[in-house]
Amino acid sequence: MDLKLINREILLSFWKVHILYHAADGEVIGQWMIKELRHHGYEVSPGTLYPLLKRMEKNGWLVSTVDAARGPKAPRAYRITKDGREVLKIVRQQLKELGVEVGKHG
Ligand SMILES: [Zn+2]
Repeated sequence: MDLKLINREILLSFWKVHILYHAADGEVIGQWMIKELRHHGYEVSPGTLYPLLKRMEKNGWLVSTVDAARGPKAPRAYRITKDGREVLKIVRQQLKELGVEVGKHG
């Protein structure tokens, strides 16, 4: 089983859903997100997560800030945007559908 392939093709999308979900709840930082995903059994490296966050920001789903007052090592904090909330809404609906269909064959 090629786990890397599964990660890239499918699970990557799940991680984005987690990110949107948590960013809708409050600011998230990369380090915290990596730990969060680990709790769910996903081993996501910083080299994967940070470009993902950057891409989601480029898509207009997240917006990030760095609190300069916290010094040169201050983490970049991400928040969800209005567009991001719309995406989350669509994903929620689709997850419901998917759960009904795929769940019943489990
Ligand atoms: Zn989560």
